[in-house]
Amino acid sequence: MKNEIIEKAEKVIAATYKRPPIVIEKGKGCMVWDTEGKSYIDFVAGVAVCSLGHAHPRVVKALCSQADLLFHVSNLYYTIPQVELASMLVENSFADRVFFCNSGAEANEAAIKLARKNFKDKGENDRYRIISMEKSFHGRTMATLSATGQDKIKKGYDPVLEGFDFVPFNDPEALAGMIGPSTCAVILEPVQGEGGVHVAGSGYLKEVRKLCDKSGTLLIFDEIQTGIGRTGKLFAYQHSGVEPDIMTLAKALGNGLPIGAMLAKEHVASAFVHGSHATTFGGTPVVTAAALEVLKVLSEENIIDNCDKMGAYFQERLLWLKSRHSSVLDVRGVGLLIGMELDKEKGENLVTKCLERGFLINCIQGRIIRFVPPLIISREEIDALILCLDEIL
Ligand SMILES: *Cc1c(COP(=O)(O)O)cnc(C)c1O
Repeated sequence: MKNEIIEKAEKVIAATYKRPPIVIEKGKGCMVWDTEGKSYIDFVAGVAVCSLGHAHPRVVKALCSQADLLFHVSNLYYTIPQVELASMLVENSFADRVFFCNSGAEANEAAIKLARKNFKDKGENDRYRIISMEKSFHGRTMATLSATGQDKIKKGYDPVLEGFDFVPFNDPEALAGMIGPSTCAVILEPVQGEGGVHVAGSGYLKEVRKLCDKSGTLLIFDEIQTGIGRTGKLFAYQHSGVEPDIMTLAKALGNGLPIGAMLAKEHVASAFVHGSHATTFGGTPVVTAAALEVLKVLSEENIIDNCDKMGAYFQERLLWLKSRHSSVLDVRGVGLLIGMELDKEKGENLVTKCLERGFLINCIQGRIIRFVPPLIISREEIDALILCLDEIL
């Protein structure tokens, strides 16, 4: 069965991912099982997506009840779960309005379009440039890969979209030197995920906000990976107290159902009027009903608190590993978005060995292990992984 599936996959699925030779069949909480019945503790969580763990009973129930009632009618009509989800996001963030879509890249597309339209509406036709950060990641569509500060993501897709400038992350002077009369927005991740788990200093974010205010530039926070509790607060911007004008969400919002959201303050959001932007599936009832339940579970079940505590414990244990193994160069992150940097490009090797021992971990940039487990992860599960890593290292 396993080999048949893998053989077929290698023939019919686009070859964009290199996958390990297992087929995952089911999941519960922080565990997944493959078709051979082998279990794994999941420190990837579908890339920071399944924050409540797999098959969370309340999310499953919300999804099934809504599926029974209404799947989809498009955005030509009002539906209840979409409005309730938007209200909950607005009540719990800086934002006044929400645009729903289906993925992170689409949320950033909406943010880029909204930022540009704000200035076109004011007659500032040449003010369309967006400043982004080196090592950033904003998605794989043409606009979002153009906004991404990594050459390898753009390779083969020239010409990329015009109008993006790049500065080093955590460097307010470089940003001050780049912001000009043609800049409409600055986009950044409060913690760079894909680019290697680099944390923005809160002093830096305050400087960025000041520079944006001074020049009338919009500030976009890409919280697609950091949002919905991952860093120990509902949104990462809440650590610094610096509010953006626009924020994008996706990954954990649906706990595995595809959903993206672009949130904005009224004075910015008002540039989107009837017909400005659209999507067939965005905010469809089934998906928004599940996401609404995700937010309720997060707020009612102390999960963000667990993330905060387990994140601190996890980092402490990884620092212990660092003290024992010279191959570990650095440990960094916030909450349960944690990176462990290795001295050589041995990350894939570590991933393979952990897989054999029943742990899913993820390697980015060749030598940075990114740990993004469900936010319900326990001390015992972290201890088990630490023991395994200690043996392998
Ligand atoms: C994952 C991610 C994206 C892209 O999201 P998709 O749903 O894969 O399109 C964009 N920005 C950040 C910060 C991400 O982590």
